[in-house]
Amino acid sequence: MQYRKNKKNGDEISTLGYGAMRLPTKNGRIDKELAKEQIYYAIDQGVNIIDTAYPYHGGSSESFLGEILKDGYREKVKLCTKMPSWSVKKYEDMEKYLKIQLEKLQTDCIDYYLIHNLSKVSFEKLKKIGVLEFLEDAKAKGKINNIGFSFHSDLDSFKEIIDTYNWDVCLIQYNYMDEKNQAGTEGLEYAHSKGTNIFIMEPLKGGILAGKIPDKAQEIWEESDTRRSPADWAIRWVLNHPEVTTVFSGMGELDQVEENLKVSDEVLPNSLTEEELELYERVKEVYKDLMKVDCTGCGYCMPCPRGVDIPRCFNFYNQKYMFNESPSFDYLAILGGVFSGQEAYAGLCNGCGKCVRACPQNLKIPELLTDVSSELEGRGFKYKLKITGAVIMPVFEVFISLSDRLSRRSRS
Ligand code: SF4
Ligand code: SF4
Repeated sequence: MQYRKNKKNGDEISTLGYGAMRLPTKNGRIDKELAKEQIYYAIDQGVNIIDTAYPYHGGSSESFLGEILKDGYREKVKLCTKMPSWSVKKYEDMEKYLKIQLEKLQTDCIDYYLIHNLSKVSFEKLKKIGVLEFLEDAKAKGKINNIGFSFHSDLDSFKEIIDTYNWDVCLIQYNYMDEKNQAGTEGLEYAHSKGTNIFIMEPLKGGILAGKIPDKAQEIWEESDTRRSPADWAIRWVLNHPEVTTVFSGMGELDQVEENLKVSDEVLPNSLTEEELELYERVKEVYKDLMKVDCTGCGYCMPCPRGVDIPRCFNFYNQKYMFNESPSFDYLAILGGVFSGQEAYAGLCNGCGKCVRACPQNLKIPELLTDVSSELEGRGFKYKLKITGAVIMPVFEVFISLSDRLSRRSRS
């Protein structure tokens, strides 16, 4: 594992951090056994920082980490979590949330405490109620060690926020597709020039740059003499920047942990060659041409009062264009609620706008959902749902039960 220094206090931080926003789940909840196994494994291999936040996994990410770290692993890692800035209306709220978070994490001190999703507007409001005084007081009392913020807004706001305070750390979204999005490369270099440590989130852009990727992008990676997975290429690009301290990656499977450990073990700043950097430029063009919606799957827009599974709708929509596949049946079965009885398709949106305020990518969600609905649902979608539920699913169930009986007979 490679480590990079916190420029303010000399902490040695692993270049790979464990992102606890996308832990493995079972029946919609954290799969505690699996998640614990993976996190212990990563720590045993040298990962020494974990990132979480008050709302992750419906509020259970912090308590889960508190439970699993208390018996010896807490001392091996730095904890990074975030103040839920949108719920803070007065000074006492900040005291209340920090107390709750310390209790949930079962610790006396949070190593890195960030204001979650800070923007110019929210910063103005928070400054008026004394956010900086509160954070300094908490640091003086030893309840937190480093003060920072996470960010998804525009570059000008980022620079203004950086200039306002002597931050220990900032957490920004950064990957080879987002060089000019949000803080971007200019923001990264600016924060670095001011002595701020920089943590990175979304190195895989919500998973779009890893796993199954468009054929044209895969062909370009295969031109390289070195065999690397798409996730390796993506994380390698981020860590190639000397300004970056660590990359938080959400790892839902052990294979992903191993893959990310391997790359973070190898990569040194400025180690990519000119030829390799040229490949990134070409892959980037492929994605730009194919992607319809710049959704990272973060889920901040959820829950929707109408039940729309917004990130999944956009995922299906992007898949259609990225892989030139029609996901109609999967879309109908999954978001139409044929299997679960829970309808979550784009056409349910009534345009209330609640989700738009929460989206860090500033997506025009209701308009985009209209596009998803017209392309993936088409006319008569409700009718198709009824037919599927009444005719196709019973046939499917008979088929499953028959094949189950046959396989049991062949085993006996
Ligand atoms: S605008 Fe549509 S998707 Fe967004 S919260 Fe309202 S109903 Fe849900
Ligand atoms: S629509 Fe926005 S808030 Fe919702 S998952 Fe996508 S990026 Fe996140």
